[in-house]
Amino acid sequence: MTDPLPLGSTIGILGGGQLGRMLSVAASRLGFKTAIFEPGGDCPASHVANFHLKATYDDEKALQNFAASCDVITYEFENIPTSALDLLDAHSTIRPGRQALATSQDRLVEKDFLNGLGLATAPYVNVETLADLEQAVATIGTPSILKTRRFGYDGKGQVRLHPQSDLAQAWSDVGESPCVLEGFVEFSCEVSVIAARGSDGQVACFDPGENVHSAGILRTTTVPAAIPASVRMDAVLLAGQILNALDYVGVMGVELFVTPEGLIVNEIAPRVHNSGHWTQNGCDICQFEQHIRAVVGWPLGTGARHSDMRMENLIGDDMDRVPDLAAAGHALHLYGKTDVKPGRKMGHVNIRLSST
Ligand code: AMP
Repeated sequence: MTDPLPLGSTIGILGGGQLGRMLSVAASRLGFKTAIFEPGGDCPASHVANFHLKATYDDEKALQNFAASCDVITYEFENIPTSALDLLDAHSTIRPGRQALATSQDRLVEKDFLNGLGLATAPYVNVETLADLEQAVATIGTPSILKTRRFGYDGKGQVRLHPQSDLAQAWSDVGESPCVLEGFVEFSCEVSVIAARGSDGQVACFDPGENVHSAGILRTTTVPAAIPASVRMDAVLLAGQILNALDYVGVMGVELFVTPEGLIVNEIAPRVHNSGHWTQNGCDICQFEQHIRAVVGWPLGTGARHSDMRMENLIGDDMDRVPDLAAAGHALHLYGKTDVKPGRKMGHVNIRLSST
């Protein structure tokens, strides 16, 4: 697939959460149709898409039908089962491609890949047994973080280890599944680069945003990040290097720790990213449009920013703030989720700090 997709083509999106919803809106604005593949009913993306195929990732017939009805397929989460990808791949084009997914689905493969590019990561050791964990703690020390290699998100599948930690308990807490033990990085701040690469190899990055997490969940992103211009440039160059190495097509989130010794890559996400939501109101072309442009073969936007921004996630009871935020005139993006639960991302607000 090299020519741009004709207007009116159908973009398949695997996953029906808020990222799929915002991708769908962007696609629709550019004149494309969207089809959502999502096992759950009444999902955020289904409210704004042309079709919703409600089926599980082991339903071969449904996957084949989905692929047959889509001109290109993209995704809003990286933990898509390999067997489903094999089927979809055989019948349609998947963007970003399989190499990016295989790399980011497994923290060990991801870290090996990043180190292979000469990029710094936290020190890490592969852990497959309790004995491995004991050995890893002897090597890495504490504080450190035990992370499942696969299926972790928003701080889930992670246990922090201290000198007194019960390692057998920690091993049980991660479900005795393959892990990496990571050394704890004493960072001065966390930033991320939302980077895009087009089908012609053009790369465009948004300005790095500064992220604040609590309990492993992103709370706020502020742009510009309070880091020197040289570090900002390093972050953008490093993101471009990752995209090129993966021959990537689409938007990627690159999460970084800023330390006095330089930038350390925490993880990469082969999709639009929560820390890029500020672009919806801080740029002419946001991360969602940028991703759609990439996957349909359009030229990318430049990534230029017209405002300083702060994005705040609305998590659980933060929804109570919506009337006040609306009255204050801020840009609200709500995901249409009916059940408010603690820790659940219900929406976000983009607050313009000043025009640049
Ligand atoms: P992750 O799921 O790997 O993105 O981790 C979620 C958050 O936990 C990060 O954004 C950091 O705030 C923190 N974190 C993860 N890994 C480390 C590390 N090696 N050192 C210090 N903090 C970490």
